[in-house]
Amino acid sequence: MVLDNGVARVLVVGGGVGGMSLAIALRHAGVMVDLIDIDPDWKAAGAGLTLNGATLRALGQLGVVDEVVAGGHVHGGRRIFHSSGQLIRDIPAYRPASDDLHAMGGIVRPALHAILARRVKELGVTVTLGVTVERLEQDGRGVDVGFSTGREDRYDLVVGADGLLSKVRQLVMPEIGPPVFTGQGCWRAIFPRPSEVETNWLFLDPHRKVGLNPISEEEMYMFMLESAPGNPWQEPADWQATLAAKMRGYGGLVRELADGISDTTSTNYRPLETLLVPPPWHRDRVVLIGDAVHATTPHAGYGAGLAIEDGIVLTAMVVERDSVEAALEAYVDRRFERCRAVLEGSVGLGRLEMEGVPIEQQLAASAKLFELTRQPY
Ligand SMILES: Cc1cc2nc3c(=O)[nH]c(=O)nc-3n(C[C@H](O)[C@H](O)[C@H](O)COP(=O)(O)OP(=O)(O)OC[C@H]3O[C@@H](n4cnc5c(N)ncnc54)[C@H](O)[C@@H]3O)c2cc1C
Repeated sequence: MVLDNGVARVLVVGGGVGGMSLAIALRHAGVMVDLIDIDPDWKAAGAGLTLNGATLRALGQLGVVDEVVAGGHVHGGRRIFHSSGQLIRDIPAYRPASDDLHAMGGIVRPALHAILARRVKELGVTVTLGVTVERLEQDGRGVDVGFSTGREDRYDLVVGADGLLSKVRQLVMPEIGPPVFTGQGCWRAIFPRPSEVETNWLFLDPHRKVGLNPISEEEMYMFMLESAPGNPWQEPADWQATLAAKMRGYGGLVRELADGISDTTSTNYRPLETLLVPPPWHRDRVVLIGDAVHATTPHAGYGAGLAIEDGIVLTAMVVERDSVEAALEAYVDRRFERCRAVLEGSVGLGRLEMEGVPIEQQLAASAKLFELTRQPY
């Protein structure tokens, strides 16, 4: 199908959560989509993912929320503990809008990847793995693409959904600098879920934070955010032992879980880096979505959610507007403020954690961040 603005074929570079969501939305609109990913195995790292209410709403719009609920866990509310393990209080479920079905959830990343990838294939997207773009040349009516395999092709629109270190961004916006380290690191691990962990549990003291989040009937994932002055290298072979030692500084369930860590516990460490590309997010007919233009920290559990929303909004604009230029301008107009607010709120909360301000001040900043999801995207 050819849209009124002439768009018939789109290339999506990057098959992460953003690229796959865009591909699904474009196919729903009848547009032909080729999707490439540099990873020949097209795998997602094993860590858990928090899905806030807004993310679940967007997954509903893509038609996959029932599968996500079945493959993950939905819940609401938060239990707040002091890092010693003492319960401080319960915070009620937060729904972005009164008619939203789900307040919050979690899923293991490979499960979400499998759900989206299955849908992408069912909808007839052509997926090619182990390949990237080497050359993008535009003439106002289309984009000539040179692939790393030597193949050449021409598209009406090219979308860079290739993450934090986006190659597409480097090709069309070489002036944009690299992501910036925020000063914090994030540890993640997956544990069997005790039945009492039915919702998000947070263990706080002014300087550090551990969260437990159910991701299925059987499992939960844990994240630990901490200051990491000088961004020290954390040797992957030592991840389990290092994390267990840090967890022994906590009380309650976190302390108990430390004794259950073994060499086979799925564990991961990432220094937190952010990037916000100023508008516009396109150069002629090449446009960016997701972490390629707005990489945030996990404080709102919303980076993947923002990438999914980008795919939905970009598709809506491409379908509605009568020129590609107008569609891409409308897309960034709709997205920039929301992404900026989430990113700056998340980085700001991380800063409060590093400064060690009182827990109540941190919880107030966190509530403000959730409030941002209330606006429609
Ligand atoms: C520690 C940590 C915890 C997080 N926790 C959460 C959370 O709980 N909830 C949440 O919503 N978000 C979370 N996020 C954010 C979330 O992971 C990202 O915002 C999200 O994955 C961005 O999706 P994306 O599709 O833009 O990029 P990505 O998920 O990075 O996907 C990019 C894809 O592009 C491919 N690719 C890369 N380079 C190329 C290339 N040159 N050519 C072709 N393909 C390429 C990659 O293989 C990959 O498949 C977290 C982030 C971090 C760092």
